[in-house]
Amino acid sequence: MSSFDLFNPTENHKALRELVHDLAKGVLEPQVKEFDEKETLNETLLRRMGSEYSLFGITIPSDIGGHGLDATASVIVHEELSYSDAAFTLSYLAHEVLFINNLYHSANDAQRKKFIPPVLDGSALAGMAMSEPGAGTDVLGMTTSAVKKGDKYILNGVKQWITNGNVGRYFIIYARTDKTNRQAISSFVVDATQKGFSVGKKEIKMGMRQSPTCQLILEDVEVPAENLIGKENGALTHMMRNLEIERLTLAAMSIGIARRALDEMVRYASTERKAFGKPLTDFGQIQQLIAESYARYRASRALVYETALRVNPTSRESLSAAAAKLSATQMAEFVARAAIQVFGGYGYTREYAVEKLLRDAILLSIGGGTNEAMQKNIVKDLKESSLLSNQSLP
Ligand SMILES: Cc1cc2nc3c(=O)[nH]c(=O)nc-3n(C[C@H](O)[C@H](O)[C@H](O)COP(=O)(O)OP(=O)(O)OC[C@H]3O[C@@H](n4cnc5c(N)ncnc54)[C@H](O)[C@@H]3O)c2cc1C
Repeated sequence: MSSFDLFNPTENHKALRELVHDLAKGVLEPQVKEFDEKETLNETLLRRMGSEYSLFGITIPSDIGGHGLDATASVIVHEELSYSDAAFTLSYLAHEVLFINNLYHSANDAQRKKFIPPVLDGSALAGMAMSEPGAGTDVLGMTTSAVKKGDKYILNGVKQWITNGNVGRYFIIYARTDKTNRQAISSFVVDATQKGFSVGKKEIKMGMRQSPTCQLILEDVEVPAENLIGKENGALTHMMRNLEIERLTLAAMSIGIARRALDEMVRYASTERKAFGKPLTDFGQIQQLIAESYARYRASRALVYETALRVNPTSRESLSAAAAKLSATQMAEFVARAAIQVFGGYGYTREYAVEKLLRDAILLSIGGGTNEAMQKNIVKDLKESSLLSNQSLP
């Protein structure tokens, strides 16, 4: 376990935060409005995250070109990037966490050697496809099938809501390998240039507009058997394990959004806007919005960093990851909404940053498992842990 805590970061963590903070301010910030309005990914910048800034592979070992850092480091990166642009960060997360972290910790050496280098340097972009038009929360209800024929698997089905769907070269795709068993899910690395693979509808979204969300259509796609990750019918364990770091980093994104909303509202209310001849911060109800926001932000941030100490690629920590995501995403929506209220009419316009913060924050309560799913998981885990240990709650 890392010795990092919020009040005593390691030198590596401090340096990483500074680096990503400067990068976000200098490079992400200037492109936010343009790409939000165009509703298009700044693909060149995402590639440069690998080729120029070496920000891919945070949680994978250095012998394969990664940084060999822990989940805390990944939280720091997602928090700092989201402070400037959560939509760009969502595409970063799909590439970095849903593909690179997931693949490295579940794949064999040959697969790592083949697929990790091109995604680390950004020459290929990537994502992960689990959800389907008829199976989101009920992910085990997926109907995409993979049938083994000789040295290939033939994949058929439709994947829905896939981040980086129209820019990705490689995807981890989950498919059913036994129709009679709900848990018989396998995962594959699929190359988007393969015959039978096509990109369907691109969604027009409320927020996270820079991050492309697309349907992927698989029609008799022949995937080499060597692209099967782990064992046939055995993908559930790595699916669930990767969902934990996904939930943690989505929670970290919520922290970044909330910190930005707080900075914006404190600055606006104390220095920029006056009413009745006084700064807005003189009014008790504005103080309440800011103070509530700050207290909730600090509490969630502490939970997220405490959870980061527990999450690692080889053990399960579903209870903490769900609690961190539930807490942080609800908090970010509250804080972003409060910021709009503090700004009044100006907050509702696109001239200021705060309306985008709320639009982006709402996705975080849905993607990676909805807040209702987090509530169910928390109760299930609490029931199991207290029944097994007969002890007080963790
Ligand atoms: C912008 C965006 C990006 C995404 N990126 C990806 C990606 O890269 N890869 C990927 O695989 N998926 C991705 N997703 C999919 C995301 O994970 C799903 O949207 C999410 O899991 C919810 O599934 P659903 O949309 O089908 O909602 P549903 O499962 O249909 O849920 C609808 C509502 O019912 C509630 N509900 C469902 N079941 C229960 C239950 N048992 N008890 C109580 N309430 C319930 C839900 O909480 C929700 O409120 C993305 C989604 C979005 C919007």
